[in-house]
Amino acid sequence: MRAPDLGTFRRVSRELSTYRRKRDPRRTPEPVPAASTPLPRGNNDTFVIQEHHATALHWDFRLERDGVLVSWAVPKGPPTDPATNHLAVQTEDHPLDYAGFSGEIPKGEYGGGSVTIWDRGTYECETWTDREVKVVLHGEQVSGRYVLFRTKGKNWMMHRMDPPPEGFAPLPQLVRPMLAVLRDAVPHDDDAWAYEFKWDGVRAMVYVEGGRPRVLSRNDRDVTGSYPELRAMAEGMGSTQAVLDGEIVAMDADGRPSFGELQSRMHVTNPAQVRTLMRQTPVTFLAFDVLHLDGRSLLDVPYRERRAVLDSLELAGPSWQTPPFFEGGGEAVWAASKQQGLEGIIAKRLDSRYYAGKRSDCWLKLKNLRTQEVVIGGWKPGEGRRKGAIGSLLLGVPDDDGLHYVGHVGTGFTDKMLRELERDLAPLRRDDPPFAGVVPRPQAKDAQWVDAQLVGEVAFSEWTREGRLRHPAWRGLRPDKSVDEVVRES
Ligand code: MN
Repeated sequence: MRAPDLGTFRRVSRELSTYRRKRDPRRTPEPVPAASTPLPRGNNDTFVIQEHHATALHWDFRLERDGVLVSWAVPKGPPTDPATNHLAVQTEDHPLDYAGFSGEIPKGEYGGGSVTIWDRGTYECETWTDREVKVVLHGEQVSGRYVLFRTKGKNWMMHRMDPPPEGFAPLPQLVRPMLAVLRDAVPHDDDAWAYEFKWDGVRAMVYVEGGRPRVLSRNDRDVTGSYPELRAMAEGMGSTQAVLDGEIVAMDADGRPSFGELQSRMHVTNPAQVRTLMRQTPVTFLAFDVLHLDGRSLLDVPYRERRAVLDSLELAGPSWQTPPFFEGGGEAVWAASKQQGLEGIIAKRLDSRYYAGKRSDCWLKLKNLRTQEVVIGGWKPGEGRRKGAIGSLLLGVPDDDGLHYVGHVGTGFTDKMLRELERDLAPLRRDDPPFAGVVPRPQAKDAQWVDAQLVGEVAFSEWTREGRLRHPAWRGLRPDKSVDEVVRES
């Protein structure tokens, strides 16, 4: 006997003709019962959630009902947080046998891609109408009361009605990066520290949810569209929710991170342009920290443990890696970084928490190349080949009184950089210097002044006693940094 329904449910006659029409049993390993087979009688108490890496990753949520599995595709998976509802698109009813299916649906077939059972268990039904389905799930991954309610056509929303599991922290929307203090020597208590290589790229905070990445720059700009390489990493993480801290780098011909190479990727958001640039200048994401994982904040957790959690994610792929860290032995790591032509090292206290948005002396940077962020306050026309075009840039660093002139830079540019600078500086022109103090007369002569809005970076040998950069060389623009973040670093 079929188990009696609770309450006043409308009896719907179920059938699998749509399911069959979409599939050829000779081409797919999915169960395809013959049309003549009557629907089995079940207990209306099985649920299954399958992770389906099809064209777009989604989770298929299926509830046994009247001899079939009534099904929804949930792009982000079932919500853990009652504050966040997830879209669930109803799909065709599936046969009951599908609850045990996992495997590879061949490419080109309907739903082509891999299917795994993400969770399976029993459920109790509280309400079932064509607009609302209320259930209590008893699974390994998911337990609790859920409601699905129809919004429009095939679109439903899935909502968790129970409070989240104890200690649950929702995925944060914004975690600002922790910053390091510049030092010129390895700390004395060497074995209290971990050492990582410093990667010459741009900082990226990557939020992964529902197999999709959201990438924020250091100054909280959404740059997801500029770096599609990260999509495959996020998809590979499945239902894992995480906030990763790391660096996006472009490699030069010798396989070393090159800030110059990365310049071409930093501005671009147009999808067609990004696709072309991805082939010319591919980037790699180096994940060096994890700040949130599956409902748990890791900000208070010591560095050593965060690194263990990060390693457990096994992030290694064609465009993403987990770079090494070394416990103690700072001098040797620093020497190795010089030998390999890297930018320097970062020392991180093994027992330190993550200070989001703060510059903390629990993280120290030791550079092989001295660099300084600068604000462009004007430019001077060149001579010879660069006549009429930019010959040098007039640079400042803000202090309490305003923009302080720190020198001019006339080397380190490529032709492409100069063209882009001309384009970016033209709309910023103004009549008077944006500097607070006096600019020496030889530099002020013939200068074209601009609003102090563009941040760049120079390498240099030392600060002069007058507070000027000695031997500066241009490294590139820093659209990931804002003017008010620029400080004299040493
Ligand atoms: Mn599916």
